[in-house]
This record gives sequence, structure tokens and C-alpha cells, in this order.
Amino acid sequence: MASEKTDAIMIRIVEFSESSCIATMFTRDFGKIGAMVKGARRPKSPFESAIDLLTISRIVFIHKSSDSLDLLTEAKLQRRFRAATRSLPHLYAGYYIAELLDALTHTGDPHPDLYDLTQETVIQLDQLQDPLSLIARFELNLLRMIGQKPSFKHCTLCGGEIPQQPRIAFGQLSGGVLCRQCRVGQSRVISISWGVLEAMRLFSVCDTPLPSIDSVVLGELRGVLNNYMANLMGRRPRMQRLLSVLGRPTTVRDDALSLLRKADQTASPNPRKSTNERPDKDVLDESKIAK
Ligand SMILES: [Zn+2]
Repeated sequence: MASEKTDAIMIRIVEFSESSCIATMFTRDFGKIGAMVKGARRPKSPFESAIDLLTISRIVFIHKSSDSLDLLTEAKLQRRFRAATRSLPHLYAGYYIAELLDALTHTGDPHPDLYDLTQETVIQLDQLQDPLSLIARFELNLLRMIGQKPSFKHCTLCGGEIPQQPRIAFGQLSGGVLCRQCRVGQSRVISISWGVLEAMRLFSVCDTPLPSIDSVVLGELRGVLNNYMANLMGRRPRMQRLLSVLGRPTTVRDDALSLLRKADQTASPNPRKSTNERPDKDVLDESKIAK
């Protein structure tokens, strides 16, 4: 059993016993791995704060056979997900990214490009950049990297180029835009604005600065991506309900956010423990972990 070293982002943590947990990590060199972390929950754990959602660590693990969990032997914390204690929208966006990585990547299937994008996105969330723009860019590049990128320019069925027009048919099942002829008889076809299509094109590259998109267009895009991701996953991601609040037009969104923040402040000084909208029951209950 070989000992392996790589960079990892923590995407799911589940309690296993009084002292141990099972950590799902997205690694740079091995893709998603699941590892037993013995002693993670003991006081003075050797892993300290590395076992926390969206932390970035340099890890050493023992790779077991395909049907058993790997064993984490070292985790040197490189970066905490600090947005978690500063802003609920950024916390939700981070949790959503972790949920997508867990659901849409396969164990042992490396995607260094996706690892780099995830790390960059987590850092930008930490810097409190616009969470809706960051997750839209993350989703569209994730889709491209796993071979599920929607078609924006050519009809998904006949390949014909789609001319500019105010609204375009978008097939949730066919995976992209449809021309007038091909949309007939297709199910789960929605109508999207040209602006949303343009925004999708801009967000689907990740080596340029984050584009600045009008908030109404961003809200519409959020709706399109919510449905697209749910169709792809065969279920609605658990974090989507919270993201849809962020996706409403600015005034509604600000009201909802201020309500969320107020509810949060009255309940507890620590936003991660207080919210009733517990984003993921599988996420390790931090209050029970010894630091
Ligand atoms: Zn067509």
C-alpha cells in the first residue's frame, strides 16, 4: 500500500466514531478520494483544523484497494475557508461548490484543472467577491471539464448556428440551445434571453477576470443553471434552495440577505452553528470536534 502526497480541498466530512471521521476530499493528483481520519475528533488531534469544510491542505494518505477507504495519515493546513465566519452568501456558495464536486466527480478520476479552479474560487469567495458570479463561472467550467458543457452557439440537435434574437429555446435535456425547427416536440425546453446566453459564454472561460454581469441577468442565469444542474444530477442539489434567494433581483436579494444575517446574529455569534438552514446534514458538526 503506497503512501501518496497531494494537495486537497475538504468537500465532505462525516462522523464515524467518537474519535474518527470519514473525509471526502477533492485532490489535485488523484481526484476525489474518501479517507478514514483516525483520531480527528480527539482533543489535540494531529490534524488540527485541517479537517474542516473547504480547507486547503497538503495531505499524505495510504491508498487502499478500490473497495475500501483510504487512510489519511497527515494533513498540513494551507488555507482555512475564512468566508465561513464572515458572510452567509459566501458560505452557502462554498458549500454548494463542495456539493457539486462531491456529486459530479468520480473517485480516483484526477482533474488538476478543476482542482485549480476550485482552489481559485474558494480563495475568491474568501475575498468576498460576488458569490453568484463565482458559482456561475465555477459551474460552467466544471461542466466543460467533465464533458457536460451546454451548447451556446449551435443547435444541440442539428448543429445549425443560432442567430441573435431576444429569446432562445434552451433544452435542459438536450444540453443547450435549440433552433426553431428542432425545439418542436422536445420536452423540458425553456426560453432564455440573449443576455443570459451571453453571460453563459462569458462565464464559461476561467482564465479571464470575473465578468461583471447585470444583477437581473445573473438572477435569470441562476434559474437556468439551477434546472440544468438538477437535471444533470437527477436531483436538486441541497444548497440550491439557498442560492435561489441570492439570485433574485437586487432589492429582494438584499432584503433576503439582511434577514438571513439578522436571524443569524440573533441566534448565535457564530454563523456556522446558528443557521436553521443547515446546508448539509452530512457535514461534520464542528461543535463536537476538538480543536
Ligand atoms: Zn436545430
